[in-house]
Amino acid sequence: MESLSLPQARPMVNRREMAMTDEIKSGDAAEAGREHIWLPYTQMNTAASPLRAVRTEGCVIELADGRRLIDGVASWWTACHGYNHPDIRAAVERQLAAMPHVMFGGLVHEPALALASRLAAMLPGDLERVFFTDSGSVAVEVAMKMAIQYRLNRGELGRTKLLAFRGGYHGDTLAAMSVCDPEEGMHALFAGALPQQVMADLPTTPERAAALDALLARHAPELAAIIVEPLVQGAGGMRFHDVATLRTLRDLADRHGLLLILDEIFTGFGRTGTMFACEQAGIVPDIVTLSKALTGGTMALAATVARRHVFEAFLSDDPAKALMHGPTFMANPLACAAANASLDLFAREPRLAQVARIEAQLREELEPCRGRPGIADVRVMGAIGVVQLDPAPNLDRLKAALVAEGVWVRPFRDVLYLTPALTIGAEDLGRLTGALRRVIERNAL
Ligand SMILES: *Cc1c(COP(=O)(O)O)cnc(C)c1O
Repeated sequence: MESLSLPQARPMVNRREMAMTDEIKSGDAAEAGREHIWLPYTQMNTAASPLRAVRTEGCVIELADGRRLIDGVASWWTACHGYNHPDIRAAVERQLAAMPHVMFGGLVHEPALALASRLAAMLPGDLERVFFTDSGSVAVEVAMKMAIQYRLNRGELGRTKLLAFRGGYHGDTLAAMSVCDPEEGMHALFAGALPQQVMADLPTTPERAAALDALLARHAPELAAIIVEPLVQGAGGMRFHDVATLRTLRDLADRHGLLLILDEIFTGFGRTGTMFACEQAGIVPDIVTLSKALTGGTMALAATVARRHVFEAFLSDDPAKALMHGPTFMANPLACAAANASLDLFAREPRLAQVARIEAQLREELEPCRGRPGIADVRVMGAIGVVQLDPAPNLDRLKAALVAEGVWVRPFRDVLYLTPALTIGAEDLGRLTGALRRVIERNAL
């Protein structure tokens, strides 16, 4: 077993002293800010005070009190090359000196042009038109608007709904929420504020595929598209499905004349073992959304990428048939520069081989949890390791126990998961899985 006193066991005396000095200098003014921030999905009345991060490096988050936590979730799966990669920093610094931002209306720039053509070249088939936004939720909103306006532009009226799946997660804005799992997406809480969509179970069995076929036959006249996270439903519960399910969805979309939107915001950029999850099924979606690891976890950026036939439905003499969307900070040059540097790293370094190695280690080291009291399931795909708990744990106690182990892991509901940087070393990954095993064994759940 690994040492229990992990944070103290990694001597970083100078940096810790630096952090302490920073803290003393800026501490009071910053601490007053705790009364003014509002945290996500957090009951501010009872939640434990958030930890203060001062520095990141590789797979380590350093706290203001000098503790160093090994990061098991890569800041919501974004920091795929680890934190502070020198190449990404240098690219952003170069761009910062030349042009931090310029509007994308009527103007374009090299970082966005290069990124668009690289994404088009990497994605399968004729996914070749890239619309940039600045968050995953907005990329999903754009995909939904694109699908709906595609229908309108073709004179197909009334096809304004989407078919989405239970267990899915596509973001927190209102339209994105409407295609999330109805229970977890707080549909009930926001009933009346959300567009009504058609919900289904993923076609993971022949019976379910037949049921979905029948549902689509009934609803196709009001549907614009099907939206799904390929292979892994992430924030909705880290549930996996197989490539056959994706192929069924492509077939059913074709049979019923629907666009297929794949939300690869979680799965894109190597997380499931291939650059994009759809590659494993050999299917080409009509629209794909990307974000999370797009900039290697450094800057907010997202993209909605459409196939040629989708784009062509917007070409017309009629100005009103143009895509009606345009975020102020779209295609931010700093973010595009970061994304280009991140893609350079994917091209130059053996990221997918690293994912395969992470997958093997996660399997070996998490599998012993299976069958233990309180463990409902253990599953691994690519650089995603999931231990599902039953009953659901006391999350506050579990989170505190994990930090005490020197790791940064963020369980939600009944799901304890690891999505580390794709560059994590075997030793650090072992510390993460060791910490998980220990909190489970100690029954700190
Ligand atoms: C995180 C996520 C989103 C939302 O992205 P934000 O940047 O948080 O708005 C959408 N879809 C999937 C699959 C995600 O994982």
